[in-house]
Amino acid sequence: MRVLVISDLHANLQATEAVLADAASAGWTRALVLGDIVGYGADPAAVIDTIRALPHATLIRGNHDKAVAGIDSAEDFNPIARDSVRWTTGALDAARLAWLRALPAGPLTIDDLGIATTIAHGAPFDEDYYLFDADDASHAFDMDDAAAIFVGHTHLQMAFTRVAGRARSAVRMEADVIPLATTRVLINPGAVGQPRDGDPRAAYALLDAEAGTVELRRVAYDISEAQRRIRAAGLHSRLAERLSVGR
Ligand code: ZN
Repeated sequence: MRVLVISDLHANLQATEAVLADAASAGWTRALVLGDIVGYGADPAAVIDTIRALPHATLIRGNHDKAVAGIDSAEDFNPIARDSVRWTTGALDAARLAWLRALPAGPLTIDDLGIATTIAHGAPFDEDYYLFDADDASHAFDMDDAAAIFVGHTHLQMAFTRVAGRARSAVRMEADVIPLATTRVLINPGAVGQPRDGDPRAAYALLDAEAGTVELRRVAYDISEAQRRIRAAGLHSRLAERLSVGR
């Protein structure tokens, strides 16, 4: 079984379509969606409809999904993000807002992959926590005993492993293909719709349950069209500009 793992699509239809086209050749039959389907980008309705149509997908909500759906206030967001939340709420009809509102909170346990897996938007211990480094990853390994933990939220594609046999430890892995067999892993597939690790290409991951690997992938997409749509929608120009640099 191959599993598509995507996060932080952020209403970027061009990036979402490029990732799905790239992943199609892998023949995935299961999808995990780690939240932040909307916010920042200009196509929230189309991205919701695209994600809703994915077969055999398990979804959880992100902080932007919560704010747009009115579950959380956007008070803690910076002014540009807050404006985008307001714009996005106005751009969605009642049915799509209700769908967003009904997205489950993470963490969720996924038990049909043959590999004990947990998904969370931020971290297994807090759906809104930004998990950046090996200390955070170690804490996640302590709090959740899944073999594979997937998180999003930081928009940084990265992987950590628990040092075999050692509690309270984690190290960052630099490889693009992460083996699952020998130890536990915590993987952020990166952001589909607004990468922030300096690589502007859309980011995602593919889990291959038979091979026992997770591949971290990047795919070029039509950034200028996504930027044009953000500007045409009247969203802040910074949201368009940052897509060029992946920051
Ligand atoms: Zn996000």
